[in-house]
Amino acid sequence: KKRVAIMTSGGDSPGMNGVVRACVRMAIHMGCDAYCIYEGYEGLVCGGDLIRKMEWHDVRGWLSEGGTLIGTARCMAFYERAGRLTAAKNMILNGIDALIICGGDGSLTGADRFRAEWPSLLEELVSTGVFKADQIAPYQHLNIVGLVGSIDNDLSGTDATIGCYSALARICYCIDLIEATASSHSRAFVIEVMGRHCGWLALMAGVATGADFIFIPEKPREDNWKEEMCGIVHQHRKLGKRKTIVIIAEGALDREGNKITPEMVKDLLADKDGLSLDTRITTLGHVQRGGTAVAYDRMLATLQGVEAVKAVLEATPDTPTCFIAINENKIIRKPLVQAVLDTKEVAKAIQRQDFDLAMSLRDTEFTE
Ligand code: ADP
Repeated sequence: KKRVAIMTSGGDSPGMNGVVRACVRMAIHMGCDAYCIYEGYEGLVCGGDLIRKMEWHDVRGWLSEGGTLIGTARCMAFYERAGRLTAAKNMILNGIDALIICGGDGSLTGADRFRAEWPSLLEELVSTGVFKADQIAPYQHLNIVGLVGSIDNDLSGTDATIGCYSALARICYCIDLIEATASSHSRAFVIEVMGRHCGWLALMAGVATGADFIFIPEKPREDNWKEEMCGIVHQHRKLGKRKTIVIIAEGALDREGNKITPEMVKDLLADKDGLSLDTRITTLGHVQRGGTAVAYDRMLATLQGVEAVKAVLEATPDTPTCFIAINENKIIRKPLVQAVLDTKEVAKAIQRQDFDLAMSLRDTEFTE
């Protein structure tokens, strides 16, 4: 019986449990044995009871659980060949040569590297006497398929990553809560959301809540950003708006590449010689990651999990490592390495549509 293993790696995201459930059950459905690697690459390197056979009922109820029940970790050892050699040994000890990894671009890059190196890892395991040649004979090729689990929606080539709509929904919910108290006291709030390199969450939350101003890494602010922001906030206030919401992604920058921090924005809004607003900072932090997945992420996790098992069983040594994407509502396979390269090239958040226009649906532009 073919053995298919599934693991979650890197930062957790809502929907990962849905992925594991779908892969385990689809693998069993396809007549394979299903395995879970616990604690990401750490589990591959350490082996033992971190690699477990899973049955159909083991993943019962997992669709509605947040986080990842099989654990995730950052694993230093896997960056080194020695770590990957031990990982290969543990894979073969468990009879596994088909692996599905749900993680961010780091995890998927590591997976592609592991696959490329596989033949030489096997050679070394034989030459150092760990295995005999006939023991490794059935495992000549490692098939790997990636699923993108990330709240940031930061991989090029797919419309959505598993978890991003859950994080976005949570941010919007939190901003709604804050708006109520902001209006009551006529306060300003600077809300920091996750996104070191990708401003998708901040941008979409800005559009979805009608925020006064946003800062994202993909759109470094011009030198005059202080005047620009204060001008807009001032106009909104003049029109009678009793609340001010500024959303700032963790990786917000100005043109010179300097970080724009929530404190800088707060000081500006609170400046006694300027807007003089009673201003608070709210860092949403890990509430954005926690909790259960929204329906869309559960659906994506399930459909993509099914496709990932098919893809890993159909993969051949000549096909490049693929990941499962969603493009225009279709679940498709795409080459992984190209997507990772594209991600480094293009700023996904602003590549999409005319968000300036969407953001300009604020009070000012219509009432003037
Ligand atoms: P994410 O998958 O969320 O982007 P990381 O970049 O931290 O998160 O990657 C998760 C893990 O994947 C790392 O701790 C490491 O074990 C493995 N990994 C990441 N990049 C590589 C790489 N270039 N080579 C080998 N392993 C890697």
